[in-house]
Amino acid sequence: MDTEIYADHAATTRLREEVLEAMLLWLREGYGNASSLYKLGRTARKAVENARRTVAEILGADANEIFFTSGGTEGDNAALRGVMACAAGRHIVSTAFEHHAVLHTLEALQKTGCDVTLVQPDRSGHVSAEEICAALRPDTALISVMTANNELGTIQPIPEIGKIAREKGISFHTDAVQAAGHIPLNVRNLCVDLLTLSAHKFGGPKGVGVLYLRRGTPFIPYLTGGAQERGKRAGTENVAGIVGLARALELAAAEMEEEAARLRVLRQRLTEGVLRIPFVRENGGGDRLPGIANFSFTAIEGEYIAMMLDQAGIAVSPGSACAAGSEEPSHVLTAIGLDRAAAKGGLRISLGYGNTEADVDAILQALSPAVEKLRAMSPAWAAMRHMGML
Ligand code: PLP
Repeated sequence: MDTEIYADHAATTRLREEVLEAMLLWLREGYGNASSLYKLGRTARKAVENARRTVAEILGADANEIFFTSGGTEGDNAALRGVMACAAGRHIVSTAFEHHAVLHTLEALQKTGCDVTLVQPDRSGHVSAEEICAALRPDTALISVMTANNELGTIQPIPEIGKIAREKGISFHTDAVQAAGHIPLNVRNLCVDLLTLSAHKFGGPKGVGVLYLRRGTPFIPYLTGGAQERGKRAGTENVAGIVGLARALELAAAEMEEEAARLRVLRQRLTEGVLRIPFVRENGGGDRLPGIANFSFTAIEGEYIAMMLDQAGIAVSPGSACAAGSEEPSHVLTAIGLDRAAAKGGLRISLGYGNTEADVDAILQALSPAVEKLRAMSPAWAAMRHMGML
């Protein structure tokens, strides 16, 4: 594998060495089924329950409010389907720039008779609590708003929305998959009933996540099967994954302040450098996660820039990895008001653990000639030149 600089931490992160170390025992010797009654099973159960306590403590939750899942997509599905399966009202309020794990689940719920209102974010990539409130109806049963957007990094006013939801007795879910490990997440302060996490976004393994479910929240699990996770999530527990998730969250929480400050400085350096390239705009602003930056490059597509950087050993992304290969522009960038061309010109650079100043300088060094080369081949750029716009 010859990627030299990895700057796509919003897509996934490298497994931390300390996490791998913690997992190895459970992959090698500790292979028991956590539901088995003999010693091998009981030891695995103990590891799962220790991990649950660690996660609960970091999130400010009770251990019996933490349910392990297979990741963010499952957590989002479980939350939305689980609440709507037993809600009296049929209306859901969410936003137009949620991850597809939420948006496509909402589409599926619409087919079962639910009614969905999607609030548009503003140009800077934020929704307001007032706009969410204005979208509520007497039959609203669920609000789902992401803690931070995965393409822009913009942080949403979750505690304010949570207070409104609580006052009105509406269940409130937040997809905190991008935010986890980067900003403090305390479920009581956030005032949420359900919250989704995924380990691979903060130095943990892929295929394991958490659903926080506040005690008393009406919920019917959509997975049917065994009685694992106190009947809320059937399926044999991924013991090594769960141990890895807890260790990764613990490390991220301990290093958060310092790492966030470091990433903010790196992103500032990156942004200043990128904006020196002519006809570039930064997408998203205001309150943001420390490592994510998003830019649109006039007259060229982000996908081609990412491909050229890949040839230089640099991994960045035109948008969400889940939408890769799609002909459509990013639904996030169009939701904040970019036209189709500008949205196709989007490029996300997400810095994270292990990135250095030298990485940022190398990205900048490769980016400028890549943009120049692509524009030299771009009919849109030629047209702009012809019209005297350059
Ligand atoms: N929600 C958000 C905001 C994400 O960024 C992602 C992953 O990109 C997901 C959900 C899905 O998580 P997972 O990859 O663990 O299924």
